[in-house]
Amino acid sequence: MMPTESTFLLAGLLFLAASLGYFFARFGDDEEDEVEVDKPSSAGTLNADYIKGLNFLLNEQPDQALEVFLRMVEVDDETLETHFALGSLFRRRGEVERAIRVHQNIIARPNLSTMHKEHALISLAEDYLGAGLFDRAEKLFKELLESPEYRLRALQKLVRIYEVTHDWQQAIDAYKELAKVDPDLKEVGQIAHYYCELAEHAAQDRDFSKVRELLKKASSHKHGTVRAQLALGDLAKETDDHKQAVKIFLDVMDDEPRLISEIIPRLAESCRALDDQELLSESLNKLRKKDPLASKSIALAAIHDPQIQNSTALHCLWDYIAEDPILVNLVDPETLEESDSEVRLMASERMRKGLATFISSTHRYRCSECGYVTSQLLWQCPSCRSWETVVPVGHLSLTSPIS
Ligand SMILES: [Zn+2]
Repeated sequence: MMPTESTFLLAGLLFLAASLGYFFARFGDDEEDEVEVDKPSSAGTLNADYIKGLNFLLNEQPDQALEVFLRMVEVDDETLETHFALGSLFRRRGEVERAIRVHQNIIARPNLSTMHKEHALISLAEDYLGAGLFDRAEKLFKELLESPEYRLRALQKLVRIYEVTHDWQQAIDAYKELAKVDPDLKEVGQIAHYYCELAEHAAQDRDFSKVRELLKKASSHKHGTVRAQLALGDLAKETDDHKQAVKIFLDVMDDEPRLISEIIPRLAESCRALDDQELLSESLNKLRKKDPLASKSIALAAIHDPQIQNSTALHCLWDYIAEDPILVNLVDPETLEESDSEVRLMASERMRKGLATFISSTHRYRCSECGYVTSQLLWQCPSCRSWETVVPVGHLSLTSPIS
């Protein structure tokens, strides 16, 4: 981030305020003489340093300013607070290296009170986190677990670090500790997701009994069970128990209609393995009866998965094309309406192939919280870190926007 004038001015004002404090303490009227007695004798020198540092800041020379402030020998509570303000200012501006230097400088001071030491440690830990130095941040946050004041914040940050570094077992442990101390914690299924992540790793290693055990743990939590259910369906499919897989997939679509277009290809795969297109048609018709919007999701799934050749799915696709004000111009609906169903199916199949090459696969899923788009289903949004907010988009997204 480029330095801006206003932030330098803000920093300057902080130092000016501190400097003025000394002026008034030393040169104030008689009523304030008592205050002067308590001030350090080197206040004049200190004040000169501040003015020098302030000048550097105002001249947009933060490194020179930093050198002056870091070299200041006399640091009492008041100037320490100013150092903290400077450190947090640098971090907010994205100048993490400078923030780290300020906070390291505070920690290195002798005779620091526990309160200031912990304040400096948490600030430095946040600097490291901001710089992506997760190992160093983790170490400091762990040190702060003993602090009554910072335990909650340290646990929140540790959970975040373990999520980012995909250290799911540690995330589970830290989250359980966090739940004990955070009365405002909103359970949105994180623990279930952490177990599901571990289960996915076990599935990659084809350790299916471990997968089952982990998914059972995930399902025992109140939220986040849709993912665990879906993983159980995948497990059944993977182990050739397709009847069970179909049953689970239908249940999940019932619970979470937003995922219909994601699940249809899996359902279709199991029906193909069972050589039972009737079962697939029956299931799709049930979905359409229950939710009129399901037809659209089925059509989108059919476009994305060329292996879906089921007649009901292709009918849904035809309806989608016929109802779309742009797509309908690409076919001759009146003539096709009069043709028999086979001709219509062939036409929609041609459209399907055409559309599959035009639509954007990079914009298949979108986060309902922040608008982040991606080509695959993600359970945690990498941008805003919300859980279960990335869902399939309900419409076609073209590769090149029409302008
Ligand atoms: Zn998001």
